[in-house]
Amino acid sequence: MKIIKAGLLLTSISLVNFAAFAQVDGVIYAGKVLVKPEAGALSKQTLVLEEGKVSAIHEGYVLPEKLGLKDVKLYDLKDYYVMPGMIDMHVHLTFERDKHANPHGWLTQDNADYALNSLPYLQKTLDAGFTTVRDLGANYHVIFPLKRAVEKQLIVGPRIFASGNAVSATGGHGDMHGYRHDLTDAMNTSIGICDGADDCQRAVREVIKYGADVIKITATGGVLSNTAAGLNQQLTDDELNAIVNTAHNLGRKVAAHAHGTRGVNAAIRAGVDSIEHGSYLDDESIALFKKHDTYLVPTLLAGYTVSKEVLSNPNMPKAIANKVREVAPVVERAFRNALKNNVNIAFGTDSGVSRHGDNAKEAQLMVEYGMTPKQVLVSATRSAAKLLGQEDTLGSLEVGKYADIIAIKANPEEDISALSEVSFVMKNGVVYKNQL
Ligand SMILES: [Zn+2]
Repeated sequence: MKIIKAGLLLTSISLVNFAAFAQVDGVIYAGKVLVKPEAGALSKQTLVLEEGKVSAIHEGYVLPEKLGLKDVKLYDLKDYYVMPGMIDMHVHLTFERDKHANPHGWLTQDNADYALNSLPYLQKTLDAGFTTVRDLGANYHVIFPLKRAVEKQLIVGPRIFASGNAVSATGGHGDMHGYRHDLTDAMNTSIGICDGADDCQRAVREVIKYGADVIKITATGGVLSNTAAGLNQQLTDDELNAIVNTAHNLGRKVAAHAHGTRGVNAAIRAGVDSIEHGSYLDDESIALFKKHDTYLVPTLLAGYTVSKEVLSNPNMPKAIANKVREVAPVVERAFRNALKNNVNIAFGTDSGVSRHGDNAKEAQLMVEYGMTPKQVLVSATRSAAKLLGQEDTLGSLEVGKYADIIAIKANPEEDISALSEVSFVMKNGVVYKNQL
C-alpha cells in the first residue's frame, strides 16, 4: 500500500515539474491598469501579487524593498495597458468547426481523442488573454477531465466553468440529428435529453450529478443542428420552469440558447440567467430582460463566421444553410436594440464555431455594432464575472481578486482591435505567456 501511494505521489510531482510551472509571488509596474473596469484605467501603479491574488495596489512605481519584499519577481509593464484576464462566457473547447474535416470523423473518435485534440484549443484561448471561460455544451466525459487537468496544472488552459451536456428536448437542438436512427440511438448518451416538466427536472439533476457548474439549455431551435425544425421555442413553459427551479435550488445558473422571440421571452419569464445568441428580440423581450435583470450573451462572432462559411461551403447541409441565411441579417439589429435599452450584456463568442484563440474578434464586432470600447471591456470582465456568480474573485484587479492579468501594448480604449495582440498572460499568479 505504501509503495502504491509513493508511486502516485512521484507521478504527480514529475508531471507538474514536466510542465515547469511555479507559483510565484510578484510585483507588477503597470503603465496603465484597469483595476475597476467600469472606472477606466489608472496610470503608473504598482500591483503586489501573493498566493495567486492581488494583495496590494500602490500609486506610482514602488520599489519592492520599500514594501518589505525580497527576491520577488518584478514584471515591468510600464509601457503596457494592464487589465484583468478576459472572460468568454460562451465557448466549446472540445471542438472546432472545420469545413474541410471529414463530416463523419466523430464516428472514429474516442473520448480520449476529443480530449487530446482539445489541448491546443485550451492553449490558444489562454494565449489570447482569456483566462476564464464558460464552456456551454460538451460531452461530460471530455470537458470535466480537461477542467480538472487545468486545475491540477497538468495541462495549460483557462479557468473553466462548464455545463457538460446540454439539457434539450427530444429532437431538439441539443439532441443528435442527421443519421440513420439506429446510429443516432447507438451514439446518443441521452444525458440531458428530456420531455415534460418532471423529466426535465431529472435531466437537470443528472447533468449536475455528472459535474455541471452551470446548466445549458436549448430553449429554441439552433442554426447548426442538422434538422429543419426552425428556430423557435422547443422547451415548453412548464419544462423551462422546472429546469430553472431545479437548477437554482441546486445552486446553478441557467444559460439558455435561444434565437426565436417566443422562446427567448418564455425562457426569460421562467427565470433563466442568460440568453445566448438572442437573435430575434421584440419590445417585450427587451422589457423582460430589464424586468428580470437577465443577461444577453450575443455571440456575434458565431453569426459572422457561419454566414461567411455558407457562401463558401457547398457541403453544408441544406437544413443548416437555410437557417444561417434566415438568422444572419437579424443579429445586428437585436444587438443594437439591446444595447440602446441598456440590457446587461456579457461577452461571449461561441468559439468552436469560430476558431479558438480568435475570441477577441468578438470585441471588434461589438464596437462595429455600436458599443464603446469601454463597454466591451466591462462586458468581458466585470459583467461576465457577475453572470458567472464570481464577482468576488474575478472580473477586476481589486485587492483580493485572482491575479488573472493580461498586458497589451496598445490601448484598447482607443482601438479595440488591440485586444487581439496580448503580450503577457498571467493566471492565478502564474505567467503563461511573456512576449514583452
Ligand atoms: Zn454554443
